[in-house]
Amino acid sequence: MIQHPAFAVDPWSIRETELDLDVLEQTGSVFTLANGHIGLRGNLDEGEPPGLPGTYLGGFYEQRAMPYAEAGYDFPEAGQTVVNVTNGKIIRLLVDDEPFDVRFGVLSSHERALDLRAGVLRRRVDWSSPAGKRVRISSVRLVSLVQRAVAAVSYEVEAVDSALRVVVQSELVANELTGAAEADPRAWADLGMPLASEQFSHDDLHAVLVHATRQSGLRMAAAMDHLVEGPPSSATASESSADLARVTITADLLPGERLRVVKLMAYGWSSERSIAALGDQAAAALALARDTGWDGLLAEQRDYLDDFWQRADVELEGDEELQQAVRFGLFHTLQAGARGEQRAIAAKGLTGPGYDGHTFWDAETFVLAVLTYTAPDAARDALRWRHTTLDLARERARILGFAGAAFPWRTIDGRECSGYWPAGTAAFHIAADIADAVGRYQAASDDDQAFERETGLELLVETARLWCSLGHRDASGRFRIDGVTGPDEYSAVADNNVYTNLMAAHNLRLAADAVDRHPDRAAELSVGSAEAAAWREAATAMLIPFDERLDIHPQSEGFTEHELWDFRATAPEQYPLLLHAPYVDLYRKQVVKQADLVLALHLRGDAFSAQQKARNFAYYEALTVRDSSLSACTQAVIAAEVGHLELACDYFAEAGLMDLDDLNHNTRDGLHIASLAGAWIVAVAGFGGMRDHGGALSFAPRLPRRLTRLAFGICFAGRRLRVEVTHAEARYSLLEGPPLQITHHGQAITVTTDELHGWPIPEITPDGEPPRQPYGRAPTRRAQAE
Ligand code: BGC
Repeated sequence: MIQHPAFAVDPWSIRETELDLDVLEQTGSVFTLANGHIGLRGNLDEGEPPGLPGTYLGGFYEQRAMPYAEAGYDFPEAGQTVVNVTNGKIIRLLVDDEPFDVRFGVLSSHERALDLRAGVLRRRVDWSSPAGKRVRISSVRLVSLVQRAVAAVSYEVEAVDSALRVVVQSELVANELTGAAEADPRAWADLGMPLASEQFSHDDLHAVLVHATRQSGLRMAAAMDHLVEGPPSSATASESSADLARVTITADLLPGERLRVVKLMAYGWSSERSIAALGDQAAAALALARDTGWDGLLAEQRDYLDDFWQRADVELEGDEELQQAVRFGLFHTLQAGARGEQRAIAAKGLTGPGYDGHTFWDAETFVLAVLTYTAPDAARDALRWRHTTLDLARERARILGFAGAAFPWRTIDGRECSGYWPAGTAAFHIAADIADAVGRYQAASDDDQAFERETGLELLVETARLWCSLGHRDASGRFRIDGVTGPDEYSAVADNNVYTNLMAAHNLRLAADAVDRHPDRAAELSVGSAEAAAWREAATAMLIPFDERLDIHPQSEGFTEHELWDFRATAPEQYPLLLHAPYVDLYRKQVVKQADLVLALHLRGDAFSAQQKARNFAYYEALTVRDSSLSACTQAVIAAEVGHLELACDYFAEAGLMDLDDLNHNTRDGLHIASLAGAWIVAVAGFGGMRDHGGALSFAPRLPRRLTRLAFGICFAGRRLRVEVTHAEARYSLLEGPPLQITHHGQAITVTTDELHGWPIPEITPDGEPPRQPYGRAPTRRAQAE
């Protein structure tokens, strides 16, 4: 097993001080820069050694056939895979007559740092060629959070102790080879050479390549331009062909002299726009970037991030590594959605090809739970994207025989791409997850009426309609939802999954409330008061199974009767079980891949008593193997609520360090964005105890021993709220906006801009034995992890 490097612990950056080629693919993910539209993996500037090269555009995919050995009614037949698009990161360097390549010569120093405040990736290298010619190279890479279509690199080479001739080749490369994916269902399909050239041109220091996908009918343009500063001897040339554009700069450098090239890149794609229009779009974006200049781009980026951190930063005292991890997670969560502008937020963001670049329920349930309170416009736009896919979801529901909208389990453009229906189509909870995200955004927004009328209401109505046609009344009038898959993917097609039913009930009520607020808009969607009343009745009659014998909630009906998985007979290397055990066996036993009932304890915490939470948590702890990265954060939130604060801290570390420590050994495929978002969720909902049931904000903060202080900021209903917690007390203050009613451990308080009062933190003593995890699956103890 490859050991992942320990990045230097630093509160505001991720720094690598040695180059370990064995982990180039993992660091490629960690050092990704993205803005939700463009994603540049952290590949080395010169393109080699390549690791796993990756340049992505949000929503840009190729379609591929999904053949079945045994097909069934309406199995989706076309899959979608994110395309590794034209690579504009490449800057090759020739030092005298030898290529700069870290595999040859002597690399006497190397450092890369992802700067979370500046929003750039910095690299510094000191290298001597095999012939002994020494250069210092420094590069700074940026994907603009302000100019959505723009990325840039400042690349500088300095002759150290002898005169040199250098050649810098700045390129756009399409259809680069990416290497094979592993035989892992979580990886991606190899698309070969997915891009067909449509146009190429160059002029002076500028070049553009336009390509189209062969099947999905999408077109993209990548363009570059350069600003060169070097000795007067510098000369330039350019060329272009179908899959390659190159600008070449040659210079003679005396010792101490430098050549600096600023490469500006612009990307655009469309399913509608012509070759000429897309080429012009990229050229226009470049013109703006040139006008802004390199320093201007840096300054804009810094301002954008200063504003973000000022409202959203999470400060931790007592664990520097977790401080770094939580900021790293928040930064990548922002990067995944900041400028997505009505495109899906993928499970890996734009950091890698894992899961084929698909979005799942992760986006609404985990990522938007963070963005709603930290970058609300990004959350709104992601929900608008869902809304743009409503016609496809309505069509899918119709084909499946249901009313309303059936959203895909995994997709890029809104079409179902999951060929495995028990863990795909049957996971209908995604409808309620979307509705929950709509409700959360609406409550946290500054009364965003336009969103509710144009977007939110229709999403709520169509998902409510789905539940009404999926469920039915049993003989005693209870509303049942049978044959669905909940979040735990080691169970499938079960009846009355508690998470699904509670979330569906919430969905139905949210929809009815929104109809009451906007009867005119509802009438346009053909919703009358009788339909909305039926939703409320279904929500009230919703069947929530309870196991009286065990005094807990079964995950789904019958679950607690199943045989227990034999954890003692399962060796550590047999995890994740999905790679080592047949689903047919997993499905019939009590073994939980990821928080399911426990997620209900969080998101529908208003439906459980404190005692039920504690008992349920203990029961499911003993069954949950955390084979999904989406589990630890939820377990942390509930562990903290029921008083197991040290365990919560262990899970906090697992969620936050998922990628920095490559805990699941697949960081190479891209970052686990929802788990990284989960680190924020643990800080804010776990140790901050924040809940937003019914659109009202409540807090019940409590810290584990090792954390001495937690502070975080959130945007809520037009306010900027700051919360500071120590072991003794919590302080709430408004940085902006009118007074706000919240509760602190159940006590109603009003927060204003001028009052800063300390509210004591009550003690908690958890009942009974500390919870146990399945044999061999206890999390790493954070207290001993130093
Ligand atoms: C999880 C799903 C999740 C997907 C993408 C799977 O391992 O079980 O819940 O949506 O990963 O992150």
